[in-house]
Amino acid sequence: MSITPPQHADMADFPVQGNDLLVGGIPLPQLAQRVGSTPFYVYDRRLLSQRVAELRHAMPPDLKIHYALKANPMPAVVQHLATLVDGFDLASAGEMKVALDTVMSPVHISMAGPGKRPAELLQALAAGITVNVESFHELETLAQLSAQTGLKARVAVRINPAFELKASGMKMGGGAKPFGIDEERLPDALQRIKALDLAFQGFHIYSGSQNLKAESIIEAQQQSLDLALRLAAYCPSPIRTLNIGGGYGIPYFPGESRLDTRQVGTALGAAMARFKAEQPDTEIVIELGRYLVGEAGLYVAKVLDKKISRGQVFLVVDGGLHHHLAASGNFGQVIRKNYPVAIGTNMRGTALETVSIVGPLCTPLDILADKMALPIADIGDLVVVYQSGAYGYTASPGLFLSQPKAEELLV
Ligand SMILES: *Cc1c(COP(=O)(O)O)cnc(C)c1O
Repeated sequence: MSITPPQHADMADFPVQGNDLLVGGIPLPQLAQRVGSTPFYVYDRRLLSQRVAELRHAMPPDLKIHYALKANPMPAVVQHLATLVDGFDLASAGEMKVALDTVMSPVHISMAGPGKRPAELLQALAAGITVNVESFHELETLAQLSAQTGLKARVAVRINPAFELKASGMKMGGGAKPFGIDEERLPDALQRIKALDLAFQGFHIYSGSQNLKAESIIEAQQQSLDLALRLAAYCPSPIRTLNIGGGYGIPYFPGESRLDTRQVGTALGAAMARFKAEQPDTEIVIELGRYLVGEAGLYVAKVLDKKISRGQVFLVVDGGLHHHLAASGNFGQVIRKNYPVAIGTNMRGTALETVSIVGPLCTPLDILADKMALPIADIGDLVVVYQSGAYGYTASPGLFLSQPKAEELLV
């Protein structure tokens, strides 16, 4: 009896022509020539548009979809998304600059993060975006800045709920957390917002990230809506906006399959109808990062050397963990697993070879693929890492070993 090992989910978004992967309709070798150097990150605008359209179809029509820039703040990507989504969520004033360069109105932009500097709060206040306050101290600082400048602060409270998002890659709510104000203390926080005469917007409840289980997301969304209803009585004014977080994941590793967004959308539609029976004027928002951009991006590196060490084949490429920490397995993984990888210049090769793909850094951590069966590659071939549109370049230690930078482009 043979047991098939778990496989990567199908990576069919990028078509193949001859032996080459096509990115934005361009054969990969030609794209590399156009870029002028490897490694590079490439993002596909057609796939970004397609993803948002499919998601809208699956979600309730009155749900607002926001993009969290943290996942990929590349200006061209953010510009494109500004035309597709309903708002942006930021995690720094640096991201605010990118967001405000787009057509998105500040009214649809909010900023979260556990350690906002007074200078950042002032920038947010002056820009007219919503601040998701995460502590009592931050609330007082914002109120002071508001009094000093005469600018009325738009505040929402980020809540650290008592529940958590089950089966998540990263938990960001429930238990003791540096994010948000504990649910139990919300009545006090809301009273303070009223006393300080700030422009109360609503709540932000973000409980976790990278979740592929529809049931877990449905449960957390329902709990978020219920929590907001329980808190409505304490609010200084009606809840204008309720951000119920996101956490929609994408399949990275063998054995993972795509999230069933239709199932999530159907359940959310019913839960929103119940919520709106009590709070008809609240705008309900989800905020997504990787789900919108992750699958639209590739990391491309060139094979510099091919060597065999005691029977094991190594492809040494010109890119690695300094550009793509997550693919090397060093960004929050407990056990290292391979991202989906292909030989972008030998897509139809049928003769396979088990190889390890390593980067140029002088550290055993610099691995892009560990013992994967791939079509045979040689020096000069281009290796592609899929699922690289989120938490790639800006989530990597680019200064490590003083290697050249990667290019980034949107096609
Ligand atoms: C990280 C983060 C996101 C985006 O998470 P994804 O897993 O990329 O969807 C959204 N909102 C907040 C508050 C975050 O911290």
